[in-house]
Amino acid sequence: MIPFVDLQAQYRSIKREVDEAIGRVVESAAFILGREVEAFEAAFAEYLGARFCVGVNSGTAAVQLAVTACGVTAGDEVLVPANTFFATAEAVSTAGATPVFVDADPVSYTIDPTKIEAAITERTRAIIPVHLYGQSADLDPIFEIAARHNLSVIEDAAQAHGSLYKGRRVGALGRANCFSFYPGKNLGAYGEGGAVVTDDAEVARRVRLLRDHGSEQKYRHDIIGYNFRLEGIQGAVLNVKLKHLDHWNELRRAHAARYHELLSDASNVEGSAGDVEESGVGKGDRDSGSALTLPQELPYARHIYHLYVVQSDERDALQQHLAAAGVQTGVHYPVPVHLQPAYASLGHRAGDFPQAEHQAARVLSLPMFPELTGAQVERVAAAVRSFAGSQLSAARV
Ligand SMILES: *Cc1c(COP(=O)(O)O)cnc(C)c1O
Repeated sequence: MIPFVDLQAQYRSIKREVDEAIGRVVESAAFILGREVEAFEAAFAEYLGARFCVGVNSGTAAVQLAVTACGVTAGDEVLVPANTFFATAEAVSTAGATPVFVDADPVSYTIDPTKIEAAITERTRAIIPVHLYGQSADLDPIFEIAARHNLSVIEDAAQAHGSLYKGRRVGALGRANCFSFYPGKNLGAYGEGGAVVTDDAEVARRVRLLRDHGSEQKYRHDIIGYNFRLEGIQGAVLNVKLKHLDHWNELRRAHAARYHELLSDASNVEGSAGDVEESGVGKGDRDSGSALTLPQELPYARHIYHLYVVQSDERDALQQHLAAAGVQTGVHYPVPVHLQPAYASLGHRAGDFPQAEHQAARVLSLPMFPELTGAQVERVAAAVRSFAGSQLSAARV
């Protein structure tokens, strides 16, 4: 069986370093925040080229505190993509504000900048671009719109540790930016974890207060906050793993390039992003719906392939075919956020965000993690091709 991710393989490759780091925390009993967390915060800020990194106990907490620290409160609206992990919108809601959805770009899968202005009202305070699957959203037009409407840009970089936008690391470009260190992310802790990254000293100070009961000084509480502190063991593990992040991202990129090479002739995508846009919607049934759409790296981006996501009109059948061939896959995500039961009160209906809905019905994530072997990538690709082949020949009969 080829797993979707293999965290044990990664542990084996860093066991000595990571065991030693965890041992140090246990010896010192610095279980909450403490030296290891501070060292990681400094190292991650430096890696990103940002002034401040504040560790928290999940990516969801990071988004909530970033939203709050940017001054967003009850009655305010925050723009979020309709196709993202639920937590992006959820954290806007738990911060007391209302998420307002924006449809996705058909090629990059990230928020469509041309759809943003129509969603802005006098209550809009912030935009959260999500660097979905590890590829940056197109940030320059987003910054331009935000500046004109006086909005904060909050990057959700939970899937994009080390990803670049026009040569700069994402997650350090907005006013307040969010990371998750959920174990399966490109930089993953051994438990829950997250961080807010910013160049704004006041935002950093507010996040630090909010994560620890509104307190900078023991038993003095300046504001009502939360217990969203990062654990010492997670800081120690993240510090070890950060040193390997660029190498692991390179391996992911190499696997993606190999997938692309092996799957190109089973796909309806040839080369340029322009072609993809055309094939993304409408051209899908050219080959009786069996053709694949492969991920495209945009000219402005350096994709770090948190997920390698293909599209097929026969997604469910393809997923079953791969499972039968011993290949584990995932769907990210099967229901767009505006159609989630939790947001029924917002009154959205199918058809409101056609691209997000189109993608939700078609996306399939193939196995992707640094420790994949060349042979595994070839077996996955062969299994995908055997599906495309059987569908194509069936259509010809
Ligand atoms: C994982 C993720 C989150 C939430 O992070 P947690 O650490 O699981 O709370 C938020 N946004 C996106 C896009 C994510 O992928």
